[in-house]
Amino acid sequence: MAEHTFSMEFFPPKSPEGAAKLRETRRQLAQLKPKFFSVTFGAGGSTRDRTLETVVEIQGEGVAAAPHLSCIGSTQENIRQILHTYKSHGIRHIVALRGDLPSGEGDPGEFRYANELVEFIRKETGDWFQIEVAAYPEMHPQARNYEQDVLNFKRKVDAGANAAITQYFFNADAYFHFRDECQARAINIPIVPGIMPISNYGQLARFSAMCGAEIPRWLAKKLESYYDDNASIKAFGLDVMTQLCDRLLTNEAPGLHFYTLNQAGLTSTLWQRLGLA
Ligand code: FAD
Repeated sequence: MAEHTFSMEFFPPKSPEGAAKLRETRRQLAQLKPKFFSVTFGAGGSTRDRTLETVVEIQGEGVAAAPHLSCIGSTQENIRQILHTYKSHGIRHIVALRGDLPSGEGDPGEFRYANELVEFIRKETGDWFQIEVAAYPEMHPQARNYEQDVLNFKRKVDAGANAAITQYFFNADAYFHFRDECQARAINIPIVPGIMPISNYGQLARFSAMCGAEIPRWLAKKLESYYDDNASIKAFGLDVMTQLCDRLLTNEAPGLHFYTLNQAGLTSTLWQRLGLA
């Protein structure tokens, strides 16, 4: 079996306290020796400087860092500058996205879709960056239909993406089906499942509705039944996520990407339960 790739995602902290807490989270998670830590980026460049600061810190700590880069609302010149800044800091890995404009905001800028960003990165920097792109086993919420969404995913691969990270999901079959659909279209890059540990049901439900990730009815009902008993939600969530990850890895998922929400606890416990330590 090919070696698995494990990675973990953070968002850039907003305050010195948040930055200190994230440093501690990274210290704990770095011991698990993930392949890289990625850091999200606000559409329209809203977190641009904080994403840069965080990835530079991560590289300084000896872990490979992968900044996310979203292109909607940007000019080619903005993106060129960001790429060259990352390159000058020795960063070799990037997660290339379209992003979403905050509703009501006008100018979409010079990129419409992530495949155009991937193409631009390759044109500007050749093979310097390992490029990851997003994939949606349950379909991107704005896609015209499933077939078109898979074909649009293929555009990113054809433009030069090396690997993909999925939107989180709780239904392993959605991932296996998406992977089969990709293989049928000669899309052969690794598609790494994105894993969302379950900690706060209200927040998860709101976010899932927005990003088009389905919480299966049985899971939603069970989580709802715990009301605000967060300890039980976490304990049950860990059982569910351990089974999901185990099934994915047993069925040849190439690795896992953990959405840590800047917390070490659930990701570390999941890691131990999966016997990855
Ligand atoms: P695209 O691949 O461009 O797809 C967007 C939509 O357009 C899809 O419906 C697709 O079917 C369609 N489409 C794509 N290409 C074409 C084309 N050429 N012609 C016609 N239609 C097309 N957002 C952030 O703002 N910051 C982040 O850091 C961030 N990190 C993320 C990390 C991961 C792993 C994932 C899965 C998502 C992340 N997002 C982030 C959210 C992401 O930006 C949104 O889901 C966004 O709506 C789509 O981005 P994309 O790169 O998938 O877009």
